[in-house]
Amino acid sequence: MQTTNTTGRKRKIIHMDLDAFFCAVEELKNPALSGKCFAVGGSPDQRGVIASCSYAARRYGVHSAMPTAQAIKLCPKLILVSSRHDEYSQISSSVMAILAELTPVMEQVSIDEAFLEVTDLADSGEIIAKNLQYKIKEQTGLSASFGVNSNKLVAKIANDFGKKQSRGDTYPGAIQVVEFGKEAEFMAPLPVAMLWGVGPKTTQRLGNIGVKTIGDLAKLSENSLVELFGKNGVFLRQRAMGIDDSDVESYEETKSISQEVTFNRDIVDVEVLLAEIKEISEKLGYKLRSKKLLAQSVRVKFRYYDFRTFTRQKKLSQPVNQDGIIYDAASQILTQNWDLLTPVRLIGVGVSQLSDETFQLSLWETDEARERKLLTVIDTLKVKYGRDIIRKASRMKKGENNQEDID
Ligand SMILES: [Mg+2]
Repeated sequence: MQTTNTTGRKRKIIHMDLDAFFCAVEELKNPALSGKCFAVGGSPDQRGVIASCSYAARRYGVHSAMPTAQAIKLCPKLILVSSRHDEYSQISSSVMAILAELTPVMEQVSIDEAFLEVTDLADSGEIIAKNLQYKIKEQTGLSASFGVNSNKLVAKIANDFGKKQSRGDTYPGAIQVVEFGKEAEFMAPLPVAMLWGVGPKTTQRLGNIGVKTIGDLAKLSENSLVELFGKNGVFLRQRAMGIDDSDVESYEETKSISQEVTFNRDIVDVEVLLAEIKEISEKLGYKLRSKKLLAQSVRVKFRYYDFRTFTRQKKLSQPVNQDGIIYDAASQILTQNWDLLTPVRLIGVGVSQLSDETFQLSLWETDEARERKLLTVIDTLKVKYGRDIIRKASRMKKGENNQEDID
């Protein structure tokens, strides 16, 4: 078995995850909940699910993403608290601000999770994590756990592992370090379900052929993995060996425009998601055009029924501001990253790598790009001076590009 990370770069990456975040906030607001079996979640008669549960409740087998009705069966004395999302968002921002003080290379992946790249800082990852843990506790009262490695995948799994190890009645506050080069060794004994991209169905398929641990998976030949999972098999094998070269991607608010929608109920219908993506793409295109901006990167944010949240992005061959191109990219990201089965509670689309439209004009070389620019100009003139000038512009354009029906 391979025990070194052959393609990895020696970076210092930290994954932070707040411990039982929603419950921890509720407990800060209402100390009487301390040590009790309680959960934040939807009500059982509306097919609600548990969003977060206290460590005392976890001892009864209650976990997040579980239907509330089932949780109450397992733990009849469970106290149900309804979610206060605004409050959680506010406290989350304070935590993220503490992380951002340390490095600008921060990627927030959900309300209570973030990756940080601290390669350039002198202290060890462990020391940095300890300091952050202390600071977060001191300033917000919350407990946080950390995973440290040279890549995001292993840092995240290390954190999940560390939290499980220190599971008890209280908040784990774990710090788990996996040394560079020990990634595959660390991952080998862990259950395959802990790997990214391995859901319950894949776990079962793998179990059927005797693959229980990540190490078992890493031992399969690339051919058999491709046979089982298509081209994803190659990535799966790399991940099983603890290899992940993805960057910590920080999105600055001013450098991107995005919009998201939270559904009243979880969605498993691709048509509904595509319709939503189309509507958001149109809004983003309009915003870009009205701010005279172009974007060269499109991303889609997914949040599943169980609050697992991730984003995937796609770089375009040239800067755009057209609704249709944004939609095409976003819908491709959706179909390539969603299994059509996992219920979705939130979908978002964002554009980034923004540039100034007027500056870009000189960089554009294709006819299509020039034509697009002309369309935008005509659009503007139309608003400013009305129909007549459009006719003139339209005729001028016809001579050049054989374009018709501008208005
Ligand atoms: Mg958490």
